[in-house]
Amino acid sequence: MVEKGSDTILKGISGSPGICIGQAYLVDREGVNVVEKYNVLPEGIREEVNRFKSAVKKAEDELTEVIEELPEELHHHLAILESHLALFKDKMLYGRTLEAIENERINAEWALKKTTSRAREMFRNIADPYLQGRADDITQVSDRLMVNLVGVQEVNIANIDKRVILVAKDLTPADTSRIQLERIKGFVTDRGGKTSHTSIIARTLELPSVLGLGNVSALINNEDIIIVDGNEGIVIIDPSDETLMEYEERQIRDETRRANIKRRSKIPATTLDGVTMKLMGNIELAEEVVSVMDNGGEGIGLFRTEFQYLSRSHFPTEEELYEQYREVAELIFPEPIVIRTLDINGDKALAYARENDEENPALGLRAIRFCLQRPDVFMTQLRAILRAAAFGNVRVMFPMISGVEEVLEAKKLLKEAAAQLEAEGLTFSENFEVGIMIEVPSAVVMADRLAKEVDFFSIGTNDLTQYTLAIDRGNRKVAHLYNSLHPAVLRMIRRVVDVGKKYDVKVCICGEMASEPANMPILLGLELDELSMTPQSLPGVKEMVRGLSFSESRKFADKVLMETSQSGVNALMEAFVYPEESENGKRSR
Ligand code: PEP
Ligand code: MG
Repeated sequence: MVEKGSDTILKGISGSPGICIGQAYLVDREGVNVVEKYNVLPEGIREEVNRFKSAVKKAEDELTEVIEELPEELHHHLAILESHLALFKDKMLYGRTLEAIENERINAEWALKKTTSRAREMFRNIADPYLQGRADDITQVSDRLMVNLVGVQEVNIANIDKRVILVAKDLTPADTSRIQLERIKGFVTDRGGKTSHTSIIARTLELPSVLGLGNVSALINNEDIIIVDGNEGIVIIDPSDETLMEYEERQIRDETRRANIKRRSKIPATTLDGVTMKLMGNIELAEEVVSVMDNGGEGIGLFRTEFQYLSRSHFPTEEELYEQYREVAELIFPEPIVIRTLDINGDKALAYARENDEENPALGLRAIRFCLQRPDVFMTQLRAILRAAAFGNVRVMFPMISGVEEVLEAKKLLKEAAAQLEAEGLTFSENFEVGIMIEVPSAVVMADRLAKEVDFFSIGTNDLTQYTLAIDRGNRKVAHLYNSLHPAVLRMIRRVVDVGKKYDVKVCICGEMASEPANMPILLGLELDELSMTPQSLPGVKEMVRGLSFSESRKFADKVLMETSQSGVNALMEAFVYPEESENGKRSR
């Protein structure tokens, strides 16, 4: 759909840094080529016809939406898209497919496939190169219809057997966690934002990715050459030779720079005036412990346990969970591991535990709410954690706490689980720190009361920003408004730190905010006890902390906290982190 060598540039949101160049693989069009033929009984013909008509209607609606939302810079593609819209109802495709269903009594998919291949042949045999090119349009239009006819396909990313860049409308965290690293170079999606779970996993896997591109999946074809620049958040479709060469060089420079910083990752994060920050890593899968250690992490500050529940068809058993927790706890010992109890639903729905589809999943039966409603599931996990705790420096943490009752209830179940294990004579330990995530605004308000119930707070700035500013963290349409440096979020962090100091409760940040080196002056200055981040961010963050002074950062944080506007905060950050550039007015972020 995009011309060869056209250098079409699309701007999105950087999901994870790095540059990759390669062939596109359209995930959502999988299954289109494995259509089967079957005969339809005379009484079933009407239904088959209707099925085809609904597929056409849906495709028309989808493409109309793409056209309506087409960014300015892509308006030169409008004519092609509009011609596709017209093709949906073209006699050659639409009329002939309906005739085939009715006259030959065959299923709609087979009828469409037959009609498409006949039409394609016809165009290919025409001498005029323009008309020959129309064969590709027929294929693309037919693919769209076929996707709607076949229904939603189970995306089997695990089966991809070539080195490609994934292109999809959306990838769920479950899809992303199934990615085979040796096959996939990177990915781009229509939806998603910087702190969506998909992008968090991309950073952990060190896969360059650009998200929130709006309509990229409609503009890229299978096997198109694309460049993904995760640093700048751009995708270039069908690059010219010149652009390709430029990006190959950039890719080498980028990799060298990161390798240099990584080499210094074992040096502690001690400021110029001698204050050392404890920096830990976030993991989603047990295998990532190695990556935390490699990148100089001093423990696991957040183990998102839900991923072990995602890529399967039923809840894991206590034994499976216990083995995984024990393995991770032993590997990272004597450093700590914070095991967060199940945080499912929201954008991490389990296919087998979705009670009802919720209209507002982010505000629905998520995390601790789900666990307290399903004590059977929760107790299995708590027992596994208690058993693993006998083998490492384990801490437990409850997500999405909104008030005191939830903590009391969760702690009660933890006690009950320990009592059961005791009665059964199993080895376990309950001698560990218990904490909560502070990610719902009501928890900030209640922090002084909550502090009496727990040993530590871990601020989940991803959700805290989402819930405080009422901005869906995965919605690209409001992604420009999503910012954890919003004065309201900063004031909340300060309040939690103050409460923590008063009641002697440790305060950590484990949201993505802690993964950004440029945020270090403010986080250091706000006097957080610990930070936990994407493992790959550890070297860069450590490097930044080593270049800062704690006392200067404190003064800086006080100044930032006086600011009431987002732009004011940004300007102060800019001037502190890049003083020369901002004096010359050169840098803009
Ligand atoms: C957060 O909300 O900041 C957090 C760390 O949890 P998650 O990203 O898993 O929701
Ligand atoms: Mg969260």
